[in-house]
Amino acid sequence: MVQLELLWQLQKHYLELNRLERKLKDLNKRDEIEEFKVKIHQYEYDLENKKTRLEVNNMKINRYNSKVNQLKYEFKEIENKLYSGKIKDIKQLTYMESESKKIKEEIEKLETEIILLMEEIDKLRNEIIEVEKTYDELKKNLEQIIIDNDSLMQKVELDIKKEKEIIDRISADIDEVSLKKFNKLLKNKGRAVVEVEGDKCTGCYMVVPLSILSKLKYSDSITYCDNCGRILYYKKQEE
Ligand SMILES: [Zn+2]
Repeated sequence: MVQLELLWQLQKHYLELNRLERKLKDLNKRDEIEEFKVKIHQYEYDLENKKTRLEVNNMKINRYNSKVNQLKYEFKEIENKLYSGKIKDIKQLTYMESESKKIKEEIEKLETEIILLMEEIDKLRNEIIEVEKTYDELKKNLEQIIIDNDSLMQKVELDIKKEKEIIDRISADIDEVSLKKFNKLLKNKGRAVVEVEGDKCTGCYMVVPLSILSKLKYSDSITYCDNCGRILYYKKQEE
């Protein structure tokens, strides 16, 4: 194959290699995976929070229950004294009656509180079941995405390896001077070989002079753009 054609092929494979390397970079840090991780973290936090509230409510119920038991005992004591007939003093009787009333009210208040807490516990339990379900699903989804992503990355890595091999093979067939020039252009300008479209260099979009244009059309010699210095390639209509 003529040198110019080889340089053109080399350029095409370098472009493909760039594309694959960009793709691999994107796969390496996929936004979707990051978003999933954030979401899973939020669910973990929510779950932890609900479990703590559940625990606190249970502790409160225990405390209120023992307080109720204690108050019930005190209430019984006062009632026993009141109805034993031993206390004759009106003032003392009145005081004890108001005490007993207070205790009764306190017991009722605590019992209402306990019922409310138990209702909240029921609600929390159901919520925890729901959150755990969603959390498990999310985790499973993330695992699958990571597995798919890994296999996609492996495929792209393999494609990159193949492209590099092709690049080495083509490079081996190009003469040393041209290859050196090519690599320098590639490094400095991103693209070393550019197509001529109509009468324009697609590297810098300047018009290519007629003399160069005819040289490109009728010979295979390596020609550079006057303006950007890139190697020009003109696709001959062979078919
Ligand atoms: Zn140019």
